[in-house]
This record gives sequence, C-alpha cells and structure tokens, in this order.
Amino acid sequence: MQRHADVTEFVELTPAAEVSTARHGWRAKCLQRLIRLDLPVPRTVALPVETVRAIAAGQMPDTQAIAAVFGPGLLVSVRSSPENPEWGGPGTVLNVGMNDAMHARLTQTHGAEAADALYLRFVQSYATHVARLDPDMFTARPGPHALAAALAAYQAETDEAFPQSPARQLAEVLRSMARAWEGTTARLLRQAKGAPSEATLGLLVQDMALAIGPGLSGSGTMQFVDSVTGSPQIIGRFRGQSQGRNAAVATLYLTRDARGISLEETAPEVFAELTRYGAACRVKLREEMQLEFAVSDGRVSVIDAVRVQRSSRAAVKIAVALASDGVITREEALLRVEPRALSELLHYQVDPRAPRDRFARGIAASPGAATGRIVFTSAAAQASAARDEPCILVRRETAPEDIRGMHAAVAVLTERGGMTSHAAVIARGLGLPCIVGCSEIQLNPRERTLRGPDGRIFREGEVITVDGTNGEVLAGQAAMLEPALDEGFRTLLRWADNVRDIGIRANADTPDDARTARMFEAEGIGLCRTEHMFFDEDRLTVMREMIFADTANDRRIALERLLPMQRDDFTALFDIMAGLPVTIRLFDPPLHEFLPHDREGMRELAEALDRPLSDVTRRVEALSEFNPMLGMRGVRLGITVPEIYEMQAQAIFEATVEASRRGAPVVPEIMIPLVSAQREVELVKTRIDAVAAAVRTQTKTDFTYRLGVMVETPRAALRAGQIAEHAAFLSFGTNDLTQMTYGLSRDDAGRFMGSYVKQKVYLEDPFHILDVEGVGELLLIGAQRGRAARPDVTISVCGEHGGNPESIAFCRAAGFDYVSCSPFRVPVARLAAAHFALLAPKPARDA
Ligand code: PEP
Ligand code: MG
Repeated sequence: MQRHADVTEFVELTPAAEVSTARHGWRAKCLQRLIRLDLPVPRTVALPVETVRAIAAGQMPDTQAIAAVFGPGLLVSVRSSPENPEWGGPGTVLNVGMNDAMHARLTQTHGAEAADALYLRFVQSYATHVARLDPDMFTARPGPHALAAALAAYQAETDEAFPQSPARQLAEVLRSMARAWEGTTARLLRQAKGAPSEATLGLLVQDMALAIGPGLSGSGTMQFVDSVTGSPQIIGRFRGQSQGRNAAVATLYLTRDARGISLEETAPEVFAELTRYGAACRVKLREEMQLEFAVSDGRVSVIDAVRVQRSSRAAVKIAVALASDGVITREEALLRVEPRALSELLHYQVDPRAPRDRFARGIAASPGAATGRIVFTSAAAQASAARDEPCILVRRETAPEDIRGMHAAVAVLTERGGMTSHAAVIARGLGLPCIVGCSEIQLNPRERTLRGPDGRIFREGEVITVDGTNGEVLAGQAAMLEPALDEGFRTLLRWADNVRDIGIRANADTPDDARTARMFEAEGIGLCRTEHMFFDEDRLTVMREMIFADTANDRRIALERLLPMQRDDFTALFDIMAGLPVTIRLFDPPLHEFLPHDREGMRELAEALDRPLSDVTRRVEALSEFNPMLGMRGVRLGITVPEIYEMQAQAIFEATVEASRRGAPVVPEIMIPLVSAQREVELVKTRIDAVAAAVRTQTKTDFTYRLGVMVETPRAALRAGQIAEHAAFLSFGTNDLTQMTYGLSRDDAGRFMGSYVKQKVYLEDPFHILDVEGVGELLLIGAQRGRAARPDVTISVCGEHGGNPESIAFCRAAGFDYVSCSPFRVPVARLAAAHFALLAPKPARDA
C-alpha cells in the first residue's frame, strides 16, 4: 500500500489496502473485492474524493508519484468512481500515456495498425475531453493517415504539439474528469437520480489491458442472467482487437448457438475462466454482476464489474434465486425489490395462441403489451388521453419534452434508439410497453403516417398493438392474456407475507375483480361497493321502478326483483373468495345518480315506466340536491328508505347459506357507509338482525355475520367509541373522510389542486397521498377511541390510500389490522408492508 499525504494522496488497490466506498467510490471498492477474490484485475490506483476535489479546485496533481506505481512506459485508463453507480460520472479515458515513443514501441510489438489505432483513439479523446476541441475535427476512422491528420489538427488548434509527457497527460485527464463532475449539467443529472448536492467523486488509474495484438486479443462484457427475464443465461459479447465498451468492431457471441462463431468455441479456456469468475462474483459479492474483461494474447484481465442492469421482472427473479441458493437471506431478497416496481410485472401480454398480424419488429425495450390508436406527437397523446382513448406514441426517438406524452400513452414505439435510449429508460420506469430501434418502419410525421416494411401504411388514429415483450408491432387489436405471474413473483410475495404484520385485502366489486384479488393473493375483500351492481341495463330499469314506487309496498315489489340478482352477485363473490372474509358495503350513492339527466332519457324512462313525462321530471327534480355528496346517501338513505338495505341484507344472508352449503363456511361482513351518529348504526342493526333471524328460520340454517361501520365523516371518527359499541369493525373510508375533513369536493378539487400543490398550500394532493397531519389525526383518534370502547374491534382503511406505501406505513404504525386497495395494487402493498416490518419494529398497540 502506498499513501501520500499531499494533494495527490492515492492508494494502490491491494487486498489489504484501506479502501472505502465513502472515500474512494463504489468502483474502487468493487475492484478491491475482485482482487480479494484473486481475479486478474490490472494494477489500479484509487484517488480519494478529497484529492479529486482539490484537483477540481485547481491544484495540479503530482502524477509523477502515481506514474511511479506503474513503472516505466505508463499506459493507463482513468475511470470515475462515484459513491453510487447510479450517479453517473465522466466517461472512461483509455490509453493515457500514448505518445510517439510508446507508438514506436507498440509498432514493434503489436504492429503499425494496432499502434496507430491506439494512439489515434487517445488523441481523439484527449482533444475533445481535455483540450475541449471540436469533436468533428477528430472523428476520422483509423486509416493510414488518420493519426498524422489528428496530431496535425491538434497542433493547429492549440498551437502546441500533442503533449508527450505521460505524467502531464495523466494530470490533464484527471483534472478534466474532476472538473466535469463539478459541471452544472452533471450535477443536475445526478441530483435527478437522487444524489445529494455534495456528492463526491473518486478516480481510478488502471493499467491498460491492451486487448490488441497477436494471439486471442479483444475485449467484452459477460453476464450470467438475462437482464429482462432474470433467467440464468450467459449474455455478452466479445470483440476481437478492440478496447472498451463501444468499439465498432465485429462481435463474437459468447456462447455456442446458431448465430455464428462463439468465444466458447474459439477459446474454451478463456470462456471457462470467465465463467468461473462470474460464479465467484455472484457468491462473494452476493449479486449478479456483469464483468468487463480484456484478453491480451489469450490472457484474461477483469477490468471492471458492475451490477447487472435489470428489469423489475429480472430483479424479482434474481433476488429470489440468490436467496434460494443461500447467497443472501430471504429478508435481503425482499428488501432488494422496490415495491412499486412490482406493478410493472402485472402487465398484459399478447396471447401467443391468437393470430398475430405482425408488420414490424424492433427492440423489446419494456415488457407488456398494449393496443391503442397511433399518435405522432406528445400533444396528440395528451389529447387522446383526455378523450379516454388509449393511444400509442410513435416517434423517431423521444426527448425529455416527450415525458407528458409518454405518460398519456399506453405504449411507445420509436424508430431509433437502443435498450438505454430515452424512450426505453423512461418507458421501463413508467411500466409502459415499449419498442425502440424499429428501423423497419418509416415515419412521415408531416403526413402523419407510418409505413411498414411490406409497404402497408398506417395513419394517425389507426389501431396497432405494441408487444414490448418480444419487440413486435402488430396491426389492429390483439388478443391479450392476463399478466402472467411467475413462480419467482409468487415466492417473493409469500416471503413478504411471512414477515409483514398488517393485513392486505382488496377492494372488489365484481366477480372479475374478486378473481384478480385472489390471483394477487389478497386476504379477503375489504370493500365491495354494491351500487356498481345496479348499473347493468336490466337492473337499472328495476332500480328506477323502485325509485319511482309510490308506496313502501310498491318499493318492496321492485326490490324483490332485484333480490335474486343481488343474491347471485354475492354467492359468486363468496364462492370465488372461498371462505376468505368479504366485506359488503350497503348501498351508498344518492338515488338520483340512477336517473336520467337529459330530456331524451326522461322521455324513454316515462315510456318504460308507462308514466307521464311530467311525473318523471317531477321525481327527478325532487331527488336532485345542491350537495348530493353531503345529502341523501349512505346510511341516510338506509334509514329513510329501509327496504333497500333490507333487500341487500336478505340477499347477503341467503348467499351466505348457499355458498356455505357448497364450500367453506362464510361469515359475511356488512358495512354501513357514511355514518355520523351512533343511533344510525343502532337502527340499521336492528333491521338487519331481524332479516338475519328471518333467513335463519326460513332456511333452517344458522350463520353469523359481522356488522361494521365505515368511518367517513369527521364526526364518526370523533364518536368512534360510541359507534364501536355496535360495530365489530371500523373501516376508514379515507376518500370521503379527506373530502369532509378538508371540506374539499372529491369531484371538483382537480380544478385548483394543481395550483394548490404548486404553491405548496398542500404538499401533495390529499386524495392521492394520505394527509397524515389532519386526516391522519382523525384516523388515530378514531382507532384509539374505537379500541378503548371495544378492544377486539377490527380497524382498517379502504379508501384509495390503502394501496399507497406511505399510507400503509402510517396504518401499520398506528396498529391497524389491514388495508384494502384495488386488486392491482395488492402485490405492491404486500411487499411494501414487508419492507416496513423489516425496517421498523412494530410498536405496541395502545388498547
Ligand atoms: C371512501 O370514501 O373512502 C370509500 C372507500 O368509499 P367511496 O370511495 O365509495 O365513497
Ligand atoms: Mg365513501
């Protein structure tokens, strides 16, 4: 180990050297680990962050001392080493030390062509990155005169010959990289990726592995899993007689397959050696790594190793595989997957069995499939989204200003770009299906057309399907498969279930929703909004007859027709949920939502009911309210028109008997919405108990049920103690509770929400992110008072906030029993709850 206390303090990477990620950056630490594993890493020196900062501030590094480590004939690369690999950093500069003398020497040992190419490459990068000359003057491809021309151009532009001192070259390269890190653009870019403003950079100086010359020579990358699927597979490339990641030289595939000659065949010992290193890295670094390597005359060097880039699907698979192999613990596997990323795995796929009308193929950049109308601009995508029409954004390539358009689209297709292009990266982040580099298509943005390789022309507005999983663009709409949740996904979530300490249910109104909830392994239904069951055409008419009935008896007659339909609804839900709890909320919305609002609709209704039009208009007017959300809805309707709740209760109990006969015993949970007073609960409970008794007698079957209350008004939260006397469970409807706590209309707040959030009146839209300070305090008060009165009362949240990780953290800390959210958010909620359980010990419940 060598240490210098001046501005040029540095340390040579050896197994015992004092190297830390904080001082030397992640790459330095990673290379030291590779060295400890006995991998053939070229000699490397690390400059700590203080040194780099001093260099950026203008102090010239003493590169003689560094050069001395490498001995005479210095030829090195300089790499950046920030604390976190995500933060970027200036690009690697290769072949520092190339000068006329080295060129002459290499001409002798490696031949003129190789020597020319290496020198030219260094002059090019030095001229552009260090001397900041116009890159266009130095872009010539290697050729007999290119080197001389580049050296002459350098001299003409700078009025001095190309620097020949390796020590000076190294000093200048270090300085330019240190300064590049401090630049405003670099700073903004890394801060966007979460780097702190004071993020620092370490630099590495590494002996060049030439990768050019006699014998097997070249460079490449190798990884051992597929970045998209996470399945074990050797992937990478090897380019003979070339250096670095971007060399434009013909590629040799790594493994033996139908594509052509492979490294595995040409150099089996090199291939085997690399495979061994990969396996060692996986176990010792406890991660799937991509190796960057060089081969010089058959000798392998490992230059660098980075964590394999991965899709969310691959992240799950890799984490589960590492834990299953005992490389990491299950807890660590759970923490390695970002909960929100799981939603990306839940995408639709094109049904492989269905016919596919493929008209072009590109790079599969982001998984999942979607069908929509073609749009060619982000503005058109936004307009389409505003009309609720799914659209596919087709661009030559995307730029940051296309973000809004990408948000508005259901999929993205670009003519240019690769796996790491803007479109690909952003689409993966958004979980949008995306194909890039689809060079087979010809875009004509002016005429708003897109031409396939077979000459077919598609215009803006025509429907296509993007299959981001395999890169195929299909004409028209394709048959889709539900998201396929593989074994890794299920395993990870099962591990999550073992550690989480808050329940996760789903909000499900229909049998389809319930099946999705089961597929995502929700622990029950936390909210079934029964009113959604009445909007079917045949039911709507009966509903309207009920609303128009003049007497309680007429109302009962209409409701009797709804009864079997409701019973079937509930039986189906109970059957699907197979004994898991199902919470059914009694009818909630104001009745006028079921009536027509225009003259035409009213006339049709008058005809259907065989009543005069004036009757219909009068009734519609009578039911209209100034503030329907604060009006005759929820339990208020249940008390004034009790027949509706009675019919629903009867349907629930009859379904309970039927489903229990067939399968697991059902204990239905009936929930009363919009309660604000204890007496409301008492009145409804008395009636429902009577219905239960009647059904028991009639069916000669015993059953139990649980009655609960939705806490959606501030008063219900404050009076939760009294309310809980009659309620086995309290479920916070945070949508209405937010609306009523703020006095803010759920339906209209969008008009000024943007402006409010922008001016920081509200930090977030409280309908999206639970307002823990205000609404949250009501939740705490309600839960505490409810529990004080009835220690065994079940407490939950079933508003939209239930699927939000931050809200889950809040509910868990408050000791809630479960959260309930839309079925597609259940996997995210399960994993997020596991993260919180692992990261924060559960507080004791206050009873
Ligand atoms: C709520 O108010 O939070 C709730 C779940 O009910 P809805 O959204 O149906 O009003
Ligand atoms: Mg509500």
